[in-house]
Amino acid sequence: MNTIYLDHAATTRVLPEAAQAALRVMTQDYGNPSSLHHLGVQAAKEVAGHRAEVAAALGCKPEEIYFTSCGTEGDNWAISLAVHLGRHKGKHIITTAVEHAAVLEPCKALELQGYEVTYLHPDATGHIRTEDLEAALRPDTVLVSMMLVNNETGAIQPVAEAAQVLKRHKSAALLHCDAVQGFLKLPFTPKGLGADLLTVSGHKIGGMKGVGALYIRSGLRAVPLLRGGGQEKGLRSGTEATPQIAAFAAACTAGHQALDQHREYLSGLKAYTLEKLQAEVPGLVVVSQGDAPHILAISLPGYPSQVVVRYLSDKGICLSSGSACHKGKASHVYASMNLSKAVRDGMLRISFGPENTREEIDALAEALHSATKELISMGR
Ligand code: PLP
Repeated sequence: MNTIYLDHAATTRVLPEAAQAALRVMTQDYGNPSSLHHLGVQAAKEVAGHRAEVAAALGCKPEEIYFTSCGTEGDNWAISLAVHLGRHKGKHIITTAVEHAAVLEPCKALELQGYEVTYLHPDATGHIRTEDLEAALRPDTVLVSMMLVNNETGAIQPVAEAAQVLKRHKSAALLHCDAVQGFLKLPFTPKGLGADLLTVSGHKIGGMKGVGALYIRSGLRAVPLLRGGGQEKGLRSGTEATPQIAAFAAACTAGHQALDQHREYLSGLKAYTLEKLQAEVPGLVVVSQGDAPHILAISLPGYPSQVVVRYLSDKGICLSSGSACHKGKASHVYASMNLSKAVRDGMLRISFGPENTREEIDALAEALHSATKELISMGR
């Protein structure tokens, strides 16, 4: 059975050039970048080159890139860093109700330590309103954390506008952006967004799992996340994950070069999907067309998502009922959008990659159509 993979927001297949880069580093240039012998010197040189590649894809300086183990680590670090730097200014944080758990959970932990967190709620289309941020901003706000692209709806959030609000109010709050789902899907730079801190992850862009990066604007006095041997300029000790970093850099370079082409292709494929599914799947509701080119949220009211996901999986089609991290739990993102229970229970997230084809979408439409005939509806 051929697999039709439509779950690229959960993770991606490693690109051949990224896999080759990792293999070379694992089997040939395997030195520890801190070692003084030639293999170590070579490894250190390579990490420096890979940092420059990631920085080029992100449009920032290499010295503003700190390698992490994943997007979750970058989000956690950004939040702890921002509250540490703002510790004499206040204990108020603003974020959104639709952030990934990697932002929401550290915020919840800070609430237990006496921080007050304002969660901005989206409108019915999943978008955060800048006016709500403006109303929530206080003199003691030390951090605003807003994602660039929502992982379940594809909604692009007004990060650059949020930066303008902070500037207008002369706020000392730092702006963190979780750009895990926007990186190499949309053209942006941290500077253009006005972000002080920005998170990306390797496995969402054709790199390996186990690597990501945190952008820390130069000029910010960062504090260490991990203390030890002093890697990452003393801020994140631990031997560099050189194979993952090499793969990440290769995926960044490939994705950066193909960004415009991929955007156009994915937008066309999404338009085709919408048209096809709306024409061929009775009862289908389009919940979010997603501003980002790779995410589309639909629902089959009456057909529980988990049942449909398994039904499609049996036919070789992989998609998800929302964030992979929920593992079947109800999504806080869809819950915050005022959707009816039947629509929420039937949610399906389709997330595209450049290798998906129209033939695969035809197969999806056919499988969803047969799901509505073969599965028992729970009513709308
Ligand atoms: N932020 C967003 C928006 C995500 O979609 C994800 C992963 O799904 C993460 C953060 C966490 O990234 P990682 O899986 O690399 O920890």
